[in-house]
Amino acid sequence: MQFEKIINQSVLANRLTAVIDEGRISHAQLFLGNSSSGTLALAIAYMQYVCCQNRQHYTPDADGHWHKADGTAIALRADSCGTCPACRKIEALQHPDLHFIFPNIPTGDDSAKSASSENLLEQYRDFLIKYNQHGTLNQWFEEMRVENKQGIIRERDADNIVRYVNLQAYEAPYKLVLIWHAEKMNLAAANTLLKTIEEPTGRTLIIMTAESTERMLDTVISRVQQTNVPTFGGIENVSADFALLFVAWMRLLFKLDMVKVSAWVDEMAKEGRERQKQFLLYCLEAMRVCLLRNVSGGTYRATMSFGDEKFDGSFYTVVTPNNIAAINDAINHTLMAIERNASPGLAFMSLSFKISSALRKK
Ligand SMILES: [Zn+2]
Repeated sequence: MQFEKIINQSVLANRLTAVIDEGRISHAQLFLGNSSSGTLALAIAYMQYVCCQNRQHYTPDADGHWHKADGTAIALRADSCGTCPACRKIEALQHPDLHFIFPNIPTGDDSAKSASSENLLEQYRDFLIKYNQHGTLNQWFEEMRVENKQGIIRERDADNIVRYVNLQAYEAPYKLVLIWHAEKMNLAAANTLLKTIEEPTGRTLIIMTAESTERMLDTVISRVQQTNVPTFGGIENVSADFALLFVAWMRLLFKLDMVKVSAWVDEMAKEGRERQKQFLLYCLEAMRVCLLRNVSGGTYRATMSFGDEKFDGSFYTVVTPNNIAAINDAINHTLMAIERNASPGLAFMSLSFKISSALRKK
């Protein structure tokens, strides 16, 4: 996994690669955030960057935008190469030094005691590939066909981790252990791991991911370096497809393609009111970020990316001090209308006209 393929986490990715480049890699870390926000993908991209034999550092221009060697703009300062042997093995989830630990259930006639991630590794790899490393715990439970059994991380997994980290790495600079949904570790497993986290042997890198620390031992939490993975765009509870919706909408407004705008509005009108409101809040934040980028001459380090390089590099130029008030008013007005049970179709159509006209008065 390269950071480039993770939507809307470029700010965090840039912080992570800068710290790795400085050689400050904590041996036990916790990435805290929703699975669907790319928390696991970020952990894998982190490990890939650590192991990459040909890290790519992009060139900033005078405006502070980074560019790849072929000139395309990118929101990242650096990334793994994706093509060296280490990258290829991690991309294929087949690196001999990378061990996956995840909530699991006993398979076949196994007792709970002998249940371990190892027994379900092939299925887990397929799951990671199927969901592009953004799958949720429920989706994994569906893959495992869990009915009443709860997937957890048990002693056998913790014992295996202790064994791995005492081995020499084959190829990578570190023995890598990725513990997905560490909050599903049982007490015995967490206690077994404590010593390894506190006094790691040799070059070990353990990254846990979790959606919440509530069910984790304080003694574990206090021993790991925590990275908070923002939910998409820093706004709570919105999903990554808002960027796609926003980009598609703005492009239609620019083309004044009212037939397609009307089709877009029809789709939006079918969404629930809560989701419509969240999308409008996302739009407010998107416009704010664009304005800041515009008035700073493009140097403002955006806290969000639209996941579309062309759009990222150009849309902000049409959001200006001259039209931002009209745009914000129109969005806020629509928010109130949705709140008051107005017809979403009419509200979004009216908003489409207002934004389209405001963007033309840059
Ligand atoms: Zn590489």
